[in-house]
Amino acid sequence: MNTLTVLNVIFITDELFELQVERGDVQFEPGACVALFNNGDESRPYSIAAGSEEDILRFLIRRVPNGLVSDWLAQRKPGDLVQASAPFGWFRPGRSVNGERSIFIATGTGIAPFLSYLRSYPLQIPELCLYGVRRLEEGFNLKELQNLYNFRLALSQEEVSSHFHGRVTGLLELIPLATDIHYYLCGLDTMIDETSKWLEDHGVAYTQIHREIFFYEDATL
Ligand SMILES: Cc1cc2nc3c(=O)[nH]c(=O)nc-3n(C[C@H](O)[C@H](O)[C@H](O)COP(=O)(O)OP(=O)(O)OC[C@H]3O[C@@H](n4cnc5c(N)ncnc54)[C@H](O)[C@@H]3O)c2cc1C
Repeated sequence: MNTLTVLNVIFITDELFELQVERGDVQFEPGACVALFNNGDESRPYSIAAGSEEDILRFLIRRVPNGLVSDWLAQRKPGDLVQASAPFGWFRPGRSVNGERSIFIATGTGIAPFLSYLRSYPLQIPELCLYGVRRLEEGFNLKELQNLYNFRLALSQEEVSSHFHGRVTGLLELIPLATDIHYYLCGLDTMIDETSKWLEDHGVAYTQIHREIFFYEDATL
């Protein structure tokens, strides 16, 4: 267990915030999660959004109304302490053993492991990055994404001329299909299930599809 000092809580929207904590001696690879605790015994997994060489840890967190952990984290102030587990998990976006190409597809805070990858390996550009959020303000400030030439943003609840209007699964036809591409999906379960099915229906092997579910849509209804 690590005790990490809060450096900053930066709100991107009313619901979405970046939690910055001191790194201590935490070592991780992009895609790793840690369990963050509230002031009781409750913990939830959160994906590290920082680059592996950064001095601090960053988390991109959606504040769930009355959520036991996310709501508590949203109220932290600089200098507060947060208990965290050691990093864990098997989701490793972009990890290429034989030079395979990568495609990233995310919804909401599911972009966190991909941000970690892009911040860790800025020269290793994914073949395509599709990102679904509700409104532009949620996806606009992420400069690592804006700088990608092959980045497409889907806005489900707002119409903005330069971006796709609808769920990110409306962009699936853009995805190139090849046996040397690995497909990394992260975020909402319905997006991940729909995208996995589409890929498999188009002949992509199950072993090329990597999934990390953060939220279940039924829980949000
Ligand atoms: C591997 C993994 C990595 C994750 N990484 C991240 C991350 O980087 N960032 C992040 O924000 N989250 C992440 N999550 C989700 C996170 O672990 C929590 O589930 C989330 O923060 C809600 O926890 P809570 O204690 O605040 O809410 P809870 O107390 O667990 O839930 C409170 C209530 O809200 C409902 N609810 C749950 N989810 C939602 C929702 N999305 N919208 C509305 N209501 C909801 C629940 O059904 C419940 O009734 C990750 C999950 C997993 C499995």
